[in-house]
Amino acid sequence: MKQDTFKHKGLRQQMVDALRRKGITDEAVLAAMAEVPRHWFLDSALDALAYEDRALKIGCDQTISHPSTVAMQSQLLDLRRGMKVLEIGTGSGYQTAVLCRMGAKVFTIERQKGLFEQTRKLLAEAGYRAQCFLGDGYQGLNGSYDRIIVTCGAPEIPAALMAQLKVGGIMVIPLGEEEQEMLRITKEGDASDEWRVEKFGTYSFVPMLNGKEMRS
Ligand code: SAH
Repeated sequence: MKQDTFKHKGLRQQMVDALRRKGITDEAVLAAMAEVPRHWFLDSALDALAYEDRALKIGCDQTISHPSTVAMQSQLLDLRRGMKVLEIGTGSGYQTAVLCRMGAKVFTIERQKGLFEQTRKLLAEAGYRAQCFLGDGYQGLNGSYDRIIVTCGAPEIPAALMAQLKVGGIMVIPLGEEEQEMLRITKEGDASDEWRVEKFGTYSFVPMLNGKEMRS
């Protein structure tokens, strides 16, 4: 079983204090991030760095997002308990765990088999009840969602994902190739002129890759 020592808890509280200073105000996000042990989602060699505001390698050429990015995306989702959330890019599973801790019903898709298998196991062992899928996030999943969060840099807004977002729902997506602009899209109706778009600054994510390049 993974450990969560007083030292980890202390560092985590400092991380949350820093998130407040950076302007995160959603108490549900802050409470979830105060509880989810981020170091569980990293190689134990990175234990000492787990609560610094930085992105870190998680294998398969991928990274775990900065805590401040996870906090920002989670806050922009404007989540309520019990909502159905679709996440694209499971990666380490940390963002997934934060959403579970906030009381969401989380469905998460990863395109890399190695990460998918490792993270599905980790989330289950740690008691986070997300449903994990191996697949192409551009296609989404069957179903309709209250919220959609994309955690890789998308060159375009995937049409299938907008179709799977409920009317009244919100998608948070970093849009762009080299660097991305964080968008919050509120789907006020089915037609694309009824999508309200707000912008929240520039970020740097690993790319959202096409399913045709699916790796094992
Ligand atoms: N939320 C994750 C972020 C991981 S990085 C975390 O905090 O750890 C983004 C992830 O998106 C990578 O694991 C990458 O493999 C995955 N990804 C990229 N393109 C994808 C696609 N088309 N469908 C599903 N996952 C994708």
